[in-house]
This record gives sequence, C-alpha cells and structure tokens, in this order.
Amino acid sequence: MSQEHWNFDTLKVQAGYRAEEHNNAVSVPIYQTTAFALGDSYRADRLFSFSELDPIYTRLSNPTVDVLERRISELHGAAGAVALASGMAAVSYALLNAAGQGGRVLTTARLYGGTVDSFDQIYPDYGIGIDIVENPDSPDEFEKKLLPNTRAIFIETLTNPFSTIPDLEKIASIAHRHGIPLIVDNTMATPYLLNPFNHGADIVVYSATKALSGHGNVIAGLVAESGKFDWGNGNFPHFEKPLWFLRDANDVKRNILQVFPDIPFTGRIRAVHLNYLGAALGPFDAYLVLLGVETLSERVQKQVANAKAVLAYLESNEHVKWVRHPAAKNSPYKALAERYFPKGAGSVLAFGFDGTEEQKREFLASVKLFGYQANIGDARSLIINPAQTTHVELTPEQRDLTGLSLDTIRLSLGLEDAGDLIADLRQAFERVFSAAGKP
Ligand code: PLP
Repeated sequence: MSQEHWNFDTLKVQAGYRAEEHNNAVSVPIYQTTAFALGDSYRADRLFSFSELDPIYTRLSNPTVDVLERRISELHGAAGAVALASGMAAVSYALLNAAGQGGRVLTTARLYGGTVDSFDQIYPDYGIGIDIVENPDSPDEFEKKLLPNTRAIFIETLTNPFSTIPDLEKIASIAHRHGIPLIVDNTMATPYLLNPFNHGADIVVYSATKALSGHGNVIAGLVAESGKFDWGNGNFPHFEKPLWFLRDANDVKRNILQVFPDIPFTGRIRAVHLNYLGAALGPFDAYLVLLGVETLSERVQKQVANAKAVLAYLESNEHVKWVRHPAAKNSPYKALAERYFPKGAGSVLAFGFDGTEEQKREFLASVKLFGYQANIGDARSLIINPAQTTHVELTPEQRDLTGLSLDTIRLSLGLEDAGDLIADLRQAFERVFSAAGKP
C-alpha cells in the first residue's frame, strides 16, 4: 500500500520516515550535529541558492526535525510544515509572516493568555496592529471588523480554557472573500480531533508542548500550510519582492513565491524568521515530539473519555456553579461540536467553584492526583486557576470579554483511571466543605 493511502493512525507512526535512508535504523535517529558537510563548492552553491534543499546548519533544518515536519504535514494532508522551538515561536512567526510591514491581524480574546499579552508586548514594535472581535460566536463580527490592511484572521479552534468552538468554515470564507488567510491555533484540538485544513483554514499552528507530544517533557511548536492560499494576490508584497539573498545561481534576484512555489508560507518562515530570529527546534526535542505523536490517537481518545466522566461528576456537584465544555448539558456549542468534533471536543474543561476565594485555594491545595501546573494535554491530569496563572496577563476588561471569572478552575484530563480522578476531586471538595456539611 502506498503512503498516500495511509490513514491517520498509520501516518502518525510511519509518515515522513524511511529506515533505508537512515542506515536502516528502526527508530528515527537523533542527528545531534550543528552543521553538515557541504561536499564540493559547486554543491555549496546549489545549497546556498536554495536549488538543493539538503541540510546546511541545524538552525535552518536537520534530518530528525525534518521527519517531524513531514509527519505533521502528512497527518494534515498539508503542503509543508516547519518545526520551531516553542508554540509561542509558532504563533508569532506565523503572524509576523502574514502581517508583513504595517499589516493588521484580526483575532479574539479567546486565546492562550501569553498569546493575548504578546499582542501588546511584541507586535506594536513591528508596526503590526491587532483588532479584537468581541463576540467570536458571531462570524459576521469578523467581517465588520476587517480593515483594508488586515492581513490575517487568527483564532483557536478549541479555545483555552472554556473549549468554545468557532464556526471555522464561516470565518474562513469571510477571510477568503477578502483575500486573506485564516490562521488557526489547533493546539487544544490536536490533528486527531480536528484537521482544520478540511474546514477552510490556510495555516495551522501548534504548541507541540501539549497533547501533540503529550508526555510533558518538551517545549516545541509547529506551523503547517495547506498550500492552497494565493500569497501572490497582491495583499502580501513581502512574498513578491525579489531579494538578493534569494538569488539563483546566476545572481538573479528571486522572490519567495519563486523559491518556494509549493510552500511559500513555511518556506518564508524558514528563510526569514527561523534564519534570522532563530527559534530552532533541536533534534533531540524533535525526537521527543515524534515519540509522543506515535500514540496521539490512543491518548486523546482516553483523555476525551476521562473528560466526559469528570464532567458528569462535576455537573452533579452542589459546589460547582457551572461547567464549560461542549459536552456539558447546556453548552451552546453542541451543534458546532457535532460538526467539527465528532470524536469529542477535547479534554480541557472549566468549572465555577462555588465557594470563597480561600476555599478555592484550599481546594487547589487538597487535590492529590491532579497536578497544579501551568500546562495542558499532559499524560497526567492537571488543575489550575487560570485567571491568576496561565491567563494572568489578561486585563479585567479582557477577562470580562472571555468570561474568565476568578472562580474558574480549569482541568486538563490525563490518562489516569477516571474513578481515581473523580475520587480525588471528591475528597478535595469534602475536605474544603466538611465544616459546612455535605460534599
Ligand atoms: N497556544 C496555546 C493554545 C497554548 O495553550 C500555549 C501554551 O500554553 C501556546 C500556544 C504556547 O505554547 P508554548 O508554551 O509551547 O510556547
């Protein structure tokens, strides 16, 4: 059977790697080297003029990292991918790459807190403006907020921490009507639960630190591109400008579209951002991500099942004001979940703790199995008070926009036994509320 016909679960273990090209090593070798021999000076000419794309220097590419990039690309049916040193590098390089000089990005406040804060701390310095849609549940609002120099729409496909779901196809068609790409952060969903390219997204970014690797021992990011967006439509002069550093072997200047016709977006990230800003993923870290990707489907299935079991427990708990997850009884995202997440809408849920601030802190201190850490998608179950930690950068106004109240507790379900997880939450509620009576 040829690789093109393989399904997701086969690709996640096999794609992008041929043992016969690596001394028949069964496991992907870690090419722990800074540089690669150039061979003769004519080969060097070809390498440095991008006419031969073999590795030169690990900041730009590396065979271990390359397997990860190919595997992620094939898992999405994408044209290409580039791996980076963190999810933040993936988000920022993707947005900088699309916005160019003086462009704007249209987005929402329903994002990872670090991403929201980066809008104030990084982009103004580059002349890039950020506009926020106040109600992302209404795709029309995206259209109303577009400005002549908006160069991308950026959203999370499943948002952190409330697991809200945007209407991807509607938002993608608005972006495309205006000749701009839809860039999505698919970290919470993972490619197992959602392939955003099947619903109109042009660029997908990941924090591979989370469920994609799933073992909680690596920081990594990825950007993948569909290969379908027309970067030569006049809105992106930075893709069309001939540059000396992209010249061919005859010293004729070329532009990004000429050098990377199939992968202009990730090609430009590699040639410009990775090259000059330098957030390269090391080969050992790429290897760790590859190990995680091998078990992605099995892990996510179990995590989704655990999330449903814990959700049912929380919904019947008198000390819980509300539970937010598309599988929650009164979730307004049920129809969108059915359309975009038939395999389940992830394993992160949030609930409103019905008690004082002190009781909430005592509850966080009382869980024994859930780890109190700023992470999601780990094999171990995690708990956190996001307004005061992961989303601490949000101003009170931004918190109001996202509905992130101080009583919010976020859970990221891991791979433990669901009964043990529920028992852990039960004993923590009992400890906090025992003075007041029942659990
Ligand atoms: N995107 C999302 C949805 C995240 O949750 C995070 C981190 O929590 C990031 C991006 C940033 O990723 P990293 O920590 O790998 O830089």
